Amino acid sequence: MIAVLKPGVSEEQISNLTNWFEEKGVSVHKTVGMYQTILGLVGDTTKIDISLLEALEMIESVKRISDPFKMANRKFHPEDSVIDVSGVKVGGGNFAIMAGPCSIESEEQIIEVAKQVKAAGANMLRGGAFKPRTSPYDFQGMGGDGLKLLLEAKKETGLPIVTEIMNANHLPLFEEVDLIQVGARNMQNFELLKELGKTNKPILLKRGLANTMKEWLMSAEYIMAGGNENIILCERGIRTFETYTRNTLDLSAVPMLHELTHLPVIVDPSHATGVARMVEPMSYSAVAAGADGLMIEVHNNPEKALCDGAQSLTPKQFAHITDNVFKVHEMMRGIK
Ligand code: PEP
Ligand code: MN
Repeated sequence: MIAVLKPGVSEEQISNLTNWFEEKGVSVHKTVGMYQTILGLVGDTTKIDISLLEALEMIESVKRISDPFKMANRKFHPEDSVIDVSGVKVGGGNFAIMAGPCSIESEEQIIEVAKQVKAAGANMLRGGAFKPRTSPYDFQGMGGDGLKLLLEAKKETGLPIVTEIMNANHLPLFEEVDLIQVGARNMQNFELLKELGKTNKPILLKRGLANTMKEWLMSAEYIMAGGNENIILCERGIRTFETYTRNTLDLSAVPMLHELTHLPVIVDPSHATGVARMVEPMSYSAVAAGADGLMIEVHNNPEKALCDGAQSLTPKQFAHITDNVFKVHEMMRGIK
């Protein structure tokens, strides 16, 4: 349920009303917007008499939110959330480009790629240390040693880093990670989501392999319900009957999610298509669809990559795309 307050209501009135809600066992999330203040009520609101609430002088309107996701809901928080990833803002008109290899393979590799993607315009560095591989016989990532190398690349370039967590027990290793990725395969690992909800780290929540937008938003809700509202959603393609591409990029998710939620939405055209030459057109399309950022796999030697070489761009190809991505972003701003 949300209660929209009339303009000019005092802090004291808001706090009295908040206490009244809390006495009824409902928690209150206040959103102060440019034009209105909204109280979002989470919990069992059946004990709240809507007509009584509507009759209060300070209340403009009261609405029940029928969607199962509340805190992630745009009705609850009409303005775009802007997520601050160690100084890099994402959402609300701020565009992020995260780039780097699928996996961290060596010190030379990650440092070289980090420098090259930075020079090309990326504002965050990606690299997997714990890799969720379909086959147990494939390279599983460098684990904690890989994270150390990623931190070195962060020091060297100043770029905030994003890397995937697969096990909540690894959280202590992620203290200096700027943005923690929950990969597609863990989107519904609810115990992991609950643990991430207890942290204050920004979380990049990728869409599950075959999950609906509602299920995805419910996963975001798990993290938010625990107290962590710093979430960026990432569309990375879903499983369909198509086989020429690795997945099917659901670009309609971008404008749909912008209606449904205030959280930023970025697109990963690398995992969505699995084909390096498809990354360029889908990057521009994602920006045109309103994405708040891109995540792109870049490797200094894609042919030798230990993971996802076929979808990885060379730094040169990446630099060409970023130049145009900024142009498309500017153009879209112009036609809003
Ligand atoms: C990745 O980012 O390397 C990755 C494994 O992505 P996804 O979870 O989208 O497959
Ligand atoms: Mn990958």
